[in-house]
Amino acid sequence: MILLNDPRVAARRSAAARIVVDLDAVAHNTRVLVARARGELMAVVKADGFGHGAVGVARAAIGAGASWLGVTGIGEALELRAAGLGAPVVSWLNPLAADFASAVREDIDLAVPGLSHLAVMPAGARVHLQVDTGMARDGAAPQEWAGLCRAAREAEAAGRIVVAGVMSHLAGPDTAGALRRFRECADVARGAGLRPAVCHLAATAATLTAPEAHFDLVRAGAGLVGIDPTGGNVLRGAMTLTAPVVEVRRVAAGTPVGYDHAWRATRDTTLALLPVGYADGLPRPAGPHAEVLLGGRRCRVAGRISMDQIVVEAGAGCRPGDIAVVFGPGRHGEPTVADWAGWAGTLPHEIVTGLGARPHRHVIGGN
Ligand SMILES: *Cc1c(COP(=O)(O)O)cnc(C)c1O
Repeated sequence: MILLNDPRVAARRSAAARIVVDLDAVAHNTRVLVARARGELMAVVKADGFGHGAVGVARAAIGAGASWLGVTGIGEALELRAAGLGAPVVSWLNPLAADFASAVREDIDLAVPGLSHLAVMPAGARVHLQVDTGMARDGAAPQEWAGLCRAAREAEAAGRIVVAGVMSHLAGPDTAGALRRFRECADVARGAGLRPAVCHLAATAATLTAPEAHFDLVRAGAGLVGIDPTGGNVLRGAMTLTAPVVEVRRVAAGTPVGYDHAWRATRDTTLALLPVGYADGLPRPAGPHAEVLLGGRRCRVAGRISMDQIVVEAGAGCRPGDIAVVFGPGRHGEPTVADWAGWAGTLPHEIVTGLGARPHRHVIGGN
């Protein structure tokens, strides 16, 4: 039987580098996260669903039990509405000049990180007051929080806005201090007369490992697409990147390869050329360590990662048209996104959100 969701099969007819997104993996990951969450699950689909396609990831996640959607900018939220997604959406990173009127018209909740944002909320806005609990990044500073809550309560009492939520974000795995501050801030909000329906703090890592940080709603993005920042193995990678072999050549031991002759063949060997490089999102610093799966075995990248291409040391039987799996879920021996991130000294998040526009995109699953 041919397994249609086997990325090697899906890639066979491809003539160029190709990204296959598996929405069944997104659904699986959503179910895992829903089962862990004490409250509801928000599917965070910012940055085009972590590079996997925001609308597809959102649909798969909602279909598998997520009940909220989350994005940074209003434009991303409008895209979800235009695609027919009707779930509650929160947009939490907008400049004062953003199109808040469209957001309110499209029933999009807005994070309010301070008094200036509160002042420009249109009538009818549903807001989530955002507090900084220890990142000094986004959200109201601790000394501003009580004042923001009082002003928001006044606006609410005047019928101008509704405070639907209180939110913050964790800096890392050490959650104790942030958790205490978040509880205090939620108490301050209630003390000001606010009755937020949802308090939310946790992202993927805390969803998986810190149930005490779950409150009413957890916000998972990375986990939906199979990135587990805690290093567990219950989530499935949802993306496969493949490339067809363009040329094959035999070279003698000692032959230098690529820019700067950064690599030399240590033996008589076979080199295969793949049309995928850093313009497609392969991190150039990964070059000295990187591998692909080709002909059923791991093949080292030989020399520099170029803008559009890489050379790999292949088996003697390699032929033009063979398909290399650059990364995938890892179930067939191929490298994973986490492997590439490790080779490049970065996060899997940066790999999947940094892919170029050139690879053909193909979506499987999600029915
Ligand atoms: C990106 C983001 C998330 C999702 O984080 P993951 O670790 O990817 O699950 C949650 N909340 C906020 C505020 C974010 O910016």
